[in-house]
Amino acid sequence: MTEIRHDWTKEEISEIYHTPILDLIFRAATIHRENQDYGEVQISSLISVKTGGCPEDCAYCPQAARYQTGVNVHAILPKEEVVAAAQKAKAGGASRLCMGAAWREVRDNRDFDKVIDMVKAVNELDMEVCCTLGMLTEAQAQRLADAGLYAYNHNLDTSEEDYKRIITTRTYDERLQTLEHVRKAKISVCSGGIIGLGETVEDRISMLKTLSNLPKHPESVPVNALVPVKGTPLADQPRVSVWDMVRMIATARIIMPKTVVRLSAGRTEMSVVEQAMCFMAGASSIFAGEKLLTTPNPDFDTDMAMFQLLGLKPREAFKNGRPNQVTEQQAVEA
Ligand code: SF4
Repeated sequence: MTEIRHDWTKEEISEIYHTPILDLIFRAATIHRENQDYGEVQISSLISVKTGGCPEDCAYCPQAARYQTGVNVHAILPKEEVVAAAQKAKAGGASRLCMGAAWREVRDNRDFDKVIDMVKAVNELDMEVCCTLGMLTEAQAQRLADAGLYAYNHNLDTSEEDYKRIITTRTYDERLQTLEHVRKAKISVCSGGIIGLGETVEDRISMLKTLSNLPKHPESVPVNALVPVKGTPLADQPRVSVWDMVRMIATARIIMPKTVVRLSAGRTEMSVVEQAMCFMAGASSIFAGEKLLTTPNPDFDTDMAMFQLLGLKPREAFKNGRPNQVTEQQAVEA
């Protein structure tokens, strides 16, 4: 059984990250097989329940109000529209619906009440419900948990050292505090980052260290490749190489063996062969559906064809139990 560690050093992570690529993939694939059903891939679908007009200044994000990106700004969606999208996603094989709102933080207002209603409604469809709404207080996290929220996404994006270059309107510590609130409410934690922001390899390693040294590993770690968007400060960033994605995924897989590592934004740019490399390297989840918040994503049919080709099957919802049973976490810690 693989040892679950929370004391990884940067040196150790760096050594793993820089292993010759074929050895790295082999090691990650071995750990994947020892710790998870590697033939299964969890499919999450993402819906933007409130788009654009965000007061934050995340340098990669088309939804920040201060950048001219042409994003179609809309107020909070009606519940019926979200339920219809969830049903469509479920029919397409998704076991989880992630609802995103372009907020700096959750406010205790009517919009939050609406999100709570959406969480309840999607939960009734027997889907895992995830939200990404910005910063949360402990009480708000508890309210979401009581409504049946399964997971909360709150990415670290980059390293603590690099954070100010990417976001100036909040701190790394605030980020970590929200993760603590989510954990306390016994909601499954989803937290990862983005590569291709102009960060160094040391930044990637530092972010992986933070994630793997949390008191409990996040149940999901999304690894995103920047999709540069015109009008954002990072519009001219070069695309990251697929080998960088493979190295990130494999390193995350090795240091957090039970975690679901999610191949997230940037998948549109990848061929099936490249995505297969990521699955070999330990990716065990994807985002599916037509749009990943505001950037394009392969549609369900294309993904199902890929699953068939690679002999993968979608993971069913609640495989590790219902919210607040904490069995997914127990699995992580086992
Ligand atoms: S990433 Fe989130 S918090 Fe940052 S600008 Fe975009 S919507 Fe706002």
